Amino acid sequence: MDLTTTPQQEALRAEVRAWLRTHLPWEYGVGLPPRFEDLAEEVAFGRRWQAELAAAGWVGVTWPEAYGGRGLGPAEHFVVQEELARARAPELVGRIGVNLAGPTLLANATDEQKARWLPDILGARTLWCQLFSEPDAGSDLAAVRTTARRVEGGFELQGRKVWTSYAQFADWAVCLARSDPDAPKHRGLSYFVVDMRAPGVTVHPLVQLTGEAEFNEVELDGVVVPDDQLVGAAGEGWRVANSTLSHERGVNPRQLVIHLQHLQELLTTAAACGAFDDTRLRRRLAQAYVEVRLFQLLNWRSLSKLQRGLEPGPEGSVLKLYWSEMSKRLHALALDVLGPAAPLWRDAADNPGDGSWQRAWLYYQAASIFAGTNEIQRNVVSERVLGLPRQAAGSAS
Ligand SMILES: Cc1cc2nc3c(=O)[nH]c(=O)nc-3n(C[C@H](O)[C@H](O)[C@H](O)COP(=O)(O)OP(=O)(O)OC[C@H]3O[C@@H](n4cnc5c(N)ncnc54)[C@H](O)[C@@H]3O)c2cc1C
Repeated sequence: MDLTTTPQQEALRAEVRAWLRTHLPWEYGVGLPPRFEDLAEEVAFGRRWQAELAAAGWVGVTWPEAYGGRGLGPAEHFVVQEELARARAPELVGRIGVNLAGPTLLANATDEQKARWLPDILGARTLWCQLFSEPDAGSDLAAVRTTARRVEGGFELQGRKVWTSYAQFADWAVCLARSDPDAPKHRGLSYFVVDMRAPGVTVHPLVQLTGEAEFNEVELDGVVVPDDQLVGAAGEGWRVANSTLSHERGVNPRQLVIHLQHLQELLTTAAACGAFDDTRLRRRLAQAYVEVRLFQLLNWRSLSKLQRGLEPGPEGSVLKLYWSEMSKRLHALALDVLGPAAPLWRDAADNPGDGSWQRAWLYYQAASIFAGTNEIQRNVVSERVLGLPRQAAGSAS
């Protein structure tokens, strides 16, 4: 693998860094994004920030120029993401549109559909959510039961989706539903774009461990979706959905920089708390350092493959599995470093980080669930990377 960056990539890095130095709403390298008590306020702030970033061309750098991107490659995307994360820029509020829905539409939608939806995504003029998972269809996504019944001029959706991140703020959703109940499981699905304000859509926020309600249950009760909001042909939903899912895996520059920063902060906190005097903690801190470095190398390996025009394929599961487990270990270590302060929350006295370590520990419990659980990633790695025998259907072990 070739890890050297080109002069053009370094020029891009310098350009985005210079832009961030003058446009970040807090002091570059010192300040942090404001902390919001209310998710709606955070989303409103995120929309303004994303609009500003997009106007300067720093959102969707791999998107075609016709839709607001720069038409650049994965290495340039990696460079920009690294710089955004290094500047502590908040995660894009419109990331589902930018990273999942948009690329799926680019690959599968008609020209009319692209012209209708894509121009509003990068600047967060519209927000998107992903209506895939259901109470009985998560890992086994092809088991979705939401039905899409043919009606005049379109389809009528009936069902219940769950875990839908940011549904309460979304304008549009990509949605997988069963349009042919008689077809084999994977062939009876269709892929729709749903107007989240259409009659029959009801969103119920779900409060998660951190106390925030980022995701939701979404009821679809007789929601009429016109024909021109079907993406791909009826019955092709599984193929289209897989192109969405493939964008959830691969390189992860953002988590890489976040974990490099978390590690640095943890080492500083550990020094202040006297954790280096404890042999066992000292060993675990050294191990955390090694693990974050390995995550960096795994990212670079995938990036090097992408640059040669190859897909990370099932090896993307190795990266997802590795970083999520690494993250959970790192945050568990952080709580051990805090020692007696570990059970404290925001605004408590003598609580290094003012609750940020505790929140991160809670938040990253989800890392082994979203974008495919770690059990599923292990199945992929064992069967498709290591070539071990496939688990027999119905086998309990
Ligand atoms: C923070 C977060 C945000 C999310 N956002 C969205 C979103 O916006 N839109 C959306 O559609 N979904 C979203 N999800 C849902 C996510 O994709 C699912 O949680 C995930 O696919 C797992 O499905 P499940 O929760 O139904 O678990 P299940 O599939 O019911 O699995 C339960 C347990 O059984 C294990 N298991 C299942 N099958 C196997 C197998 N074959 N072999 C071994 N073990 C197995 C799983 O690993 C898991 O431990 C989000 C999830 C999280 C945590």
